[in-house]
Order: sequence, then structure tokens, then C-alpha cells
Amino acid sequence: MSTYVPAALRRQVIERASSCCEYCRFPQTVSLLAFEIEHIISEKHGGLTSLDNPALACPYCNRAKGTDLGSIDPKTQRLTPFFNPRTQTWHDHFTLTDAVITPLTAEGRVTVLILQFNILDRLQEREQLLRAGLYPGRN
Ligand SMILES: [Zn+2]
Repeated sequence: MSTYVPAALRRQVIERASSCCEYCRFPQTVSLLAFEIEHIISEKHGGLTSLDNPALACPYCNRAKGTDLGSIDPKTQRLTPFFNPRTQTWHDHFTLTDAVITPLTAEGRVTVLILQFNILDRLQEREQLLRAGLYPGRN
């Protein structure tokens, strides 16, 4: 979680993510908080700090995810991994319903739930960004 990430790798991760959180797609450019380099597979579970594991995450998503790898899907009751921004495509797992990020799959459901995409504060922020044309979720 707080491992040193070399500056060059940090830059590559931010560029690859187009400066948006790879989970909730919040743009870093309009955030007052610094985004974080998150380990998709946490170091605790053997994840490496090479280019194929880190993701750019907003502080909300990163803190909510912690070292977790997944959760119990509320629909199937099965242990399900989180959405993986390295191997999966956001629009295959989520869609926007107004400002609400609606999950389309089991991975989407556990990610929306545990990373708390749709709590009130975040919904209100997303609504404002959508109105201003600054939220990239529809692309
Ligand atoms: Zn996020």
C-alpha cells in the first residue's frame, strides 16, 4: 500500500489511466486530493510493483479496497474478485445510470459495493462533474 513507486513507473501508470481513477473514473485533474498508485493484487498477496499490477486510484477507492482482492457477490453468494482494470474493460462491467455507476457483472457488483462507488457524497460529486462535462464515464 505504501511501497515506494519509482517516479518513472508512477508517470507511466498515470498516463495509461489518462489521469482518472481506474475504478470509479473520477478525474484527478478536478480532485483536490492526490491520487494514489494502487496495487490491484496487494503486496500482502504477492502483487508486484511492476507495470502490470499498479492502477491509478482515487483515495476513496484505494482506501475502501485496501488489501482486499474481492468479496462475496450479493446476488450469487460466490467469492468474486474485484474488477481488474489491467485485464478487464470498464464498460463490460459497469454502466452509468445518470450519476449512478450500475454494475453489469458479478465483478462489477462486488466492486461497486466494497469500493462504495455510489455513496451520497460521491454521487453528488459525479453529478456535478457530469453536468460540467468533466466525468469521462460515458466514453
Ligand atoms: Zn475511484
